[in-house]
Amino acid sequence: MPILESAVYVEMEVLSPYKEATEVIIGAGGEPLRLCYQCGICTGTCPWNLVRSFIVRRIMHEAQLGATDFGNEQVWLCATCRACVQRCPRGVEIIDVMRAVRRAVVSLGIGIVPDALRISAKNIAGAGNPLGEAPEKRADWAKDLGLKKFSPGTEILYFPCCIPAYDPDVKKVSQATATILNKLGVDFGILGSEERCCGEAIRKAGYEDTFQSLAQSNIAAFNDNGVKTVVVSSPHCYHTFKNEYPELGGKFKVIHIT
Ligand code: SF4
Ligand code: SF4
Repeated sequence: MPILESAVYVEMEVLSPYKEATEVIIGAGGEPLRLCYQCGICTGTCPWNLVRSFIVRRIMHEAQLGATDFGNEQVWLCATCRACVQRCPRGVEIIDVMRAVRRAVVSLGIGIVPDALRISAKNIAGAGNPLGEAPEKRADWAKDLGLKKFSPGTEILYFPCCIPAYDPDVKKVSQATATILNKLGVDFGILGSEERCCGEAIRKAGYEDTFQSLAQSNIAAFNDNGVKTVVVSSPHCYHTFKNEYPELGGKFKVIHIT
């Protein structure tokens, strides 16, 4: 083989060693990675780099080349804050790529899911909350407040979600919110044990099937009870109810308490 042809052959082997890895990531929703032209602005923007190294540009490049290390802890670092997306000159939906890599790990078992996440995911799938608490205790935070259960005709559903419903310290948030709504004379109710985790965070962690199940359960509960307007405490609930549930058939007015 002539020297030049041989050199080209070797270079192509290095550039795209595992093309199927790129296809797996794109198939899991990582299509935006094709737009990245490696400027590195995302790395300079990511707040992780104030405390440790996290080269977002390299993750994008490795995904383009099919060289993603699915077992690397960096797969799980992105906190999905969107700061990099807002500054990317190519409009790359970087979070979609991160989520796609995680989906590949979770659905194909080709990497290591951190223990804490694996336990939370199991709890969410089984009990509807990341703490593994009993669903029938979900309304315990409200037991001394005299709140009514939401029923058709009630104006507003207050949806505290998991941590404000169960965590002994964060319960103060849901209790204070209900107290404010009561003092304002708002006609509202809660769903208690009919409520499930909104699913926003577990979806970004790559557990798409779990998200779909949670969303369908919440949408059915909202529809069965005639919910039209939901007030939330969590930005996760706000985002997913407003931007993700509608494509699954859940169309409700969403208001964040702030
Ligand atoms: S800012 Fe956008 S184009 Fe630049 S490296 Fe990051 S993802 Fe790629
Ligand atoms: S979305 Fe992820 S990668 Fe982008 S700045 Fe935030 S933490 Fe960093």
